Amino acid sequence: MSRAEVSSDALRRHDVAAAWAAYDRVQAGPDGLNAFLATDRSATGGEVGPLAGVPVAVKDNLATLGMPTTCGSRVLAGYMSPFEATAVRKLREAGAAIIGKTNMDEFAMGSSNENSAFGPVRNPLDRERVPGGSSGGSAAAVAAGVVRVALGSETGGSVRQPAAFCGIVGIKPTYGRVSRYGLVAYASSLDNVGVFGATVGEAALGLQVIAGHDRFDSTSANVPVPALVPSVGPGKQPLAGLVIGRPIEYFPDSLDPRIADRCARTLSTLQELGAEVRDVSLPSTGLAIPVYYIIAPAEASSNLARYDGVRYGVRVAADTLGEMYERTRSGGFGDEVIRRILLGTYVLSAGYYDAYYRRAQAVRALIAQEFAQVFASGVHVLFTPTAPTTAFKLGEVSDPYEMYLSDIFTVTANLAGVPAMSLPIGSVDGLPVGGQLMAPHFGEATMVTVAAALETAWQSEAPQ
Ligand code: GLN
Repeated sequence: MSRAEVSSDALRRHDVAAAWAAYDRVQAGPDGLNAFLATDRSATGGEVGPLAGVPVAVKDNLATLGMPTTCGSRVLAGYMSPFEATAVRKLREAGAAIIGKTNMDEFAMGSSNENSAFGPVRNPLDRERVPGGSSGGSAAAVAAGVVRVALGSETGGSVRQPAAFCGIVGIKPTYGRVSRYGLVAYASSLDNVGVFGATVGEAALGLQVIAGHDRFDSTSANVPVPALVPSVGPGKQPLAGLVIGRPIEYFPDSLDPRIADRCARTLSTLQELGAEVRDVSLPSTGLAIPVYYIIAPAEASSNLARYDGVRYGVRVAADTLGEMYERTRSGGFGDEVIRRILLGTYVLSAGYYDAYYRRAQAVRALIAQEFAQVFASGVHVLFTPTAPTTAFKLGEVSDPYEMYLSDIFTVTANLAGVPAMSLPIGSVDGLPVGGQLMAPHFGEATMVTVAAALETAWQSEAPQ
């Protein structure tokens, strides 16, 4: 039986009643996961479609009807969207029951879910630890068995890193593959809707449902969506003919040797499955974090201007208009969001624009070009670790820069716009390790096939 069939079997068995039973076990209480910010107990889903009756959770920065969309921020507390995000609408059309909105770092800024105005999310595998971020609530909901498919969003790793920390699968599609209509903007040139799944097949099925051109998003690509749900044949060498690149910059000497070891084992499994593994180089990788932390805050400073208490945002009254803006914004936003707005405004200001923003754009183009060159050289898919660490403890990482380094291996795919995913490749001290696959633009199907082959190979013999 192929993995895809296994996945849909599991999906069929996991109905809305099972979701609420799991939800009631894990969500509330002092030790509860705090993975959800809102629920819809009336959701039953449709009777037909690939997700008929399947419970699905949605990150709280995707506009939904019937439940608030807060982005984990006080400034949007209670905000009811008058329309629904395209990705959410497509889930409903496929029969899914949208059971709730998941907790997240405020405006998707963070890597631990500790930046939510509504409290952190706990990692279901170890409640003293973070689930990763910023889509931590969706990742925790899947890892805890509340749902088997959930939507997240990605600007620099916010689906892949929590997927790695929670031991599940997370896919960030090609920029343009999924409509961003109704995804609250953080950094529009980097933002993507992404999908979590308990297995590769389930994540791929979720992506299949939400992918495709949308006239409501001018950056959505008019590119046909191929069959994405993998079906791995019974052959011993399903990956024969594929070349997997191992970018040396993602395996520095400083990499945790236990994570390096999990990656090495994954690469040898890929070879056993018939793939050729080849060392490649993406020389500008080391510049990705500084470039990301110029471009993302710059775009955020512009996108978040709309929360002024007039157009959007819970208004804090004052005597003058200026004071009203100031109180609304300083009272409504948390520290990390304020830090990003200040940083973004600074790098865009006259005198600094050329020194920072323009240079960052040039380096971003270089990073994208290096990916294109590696893929043009005959490499089909790249393999790397997803994150430099396993899930850390709540409160353990307090320095913002150290937190930013959590995304060191993931921001590159957002800068280049290429699809990437994380899948579990074993554990270290009982905590899951994620392996990352990256593919050329619109190469999701190949990437997912490689992931499914690994998953199938490990079904009988879980990687330790
Ligand atoms: N952790 C990164 C940030 O804080 C990425 C977040 C994301 O992908 N939304 O910007």
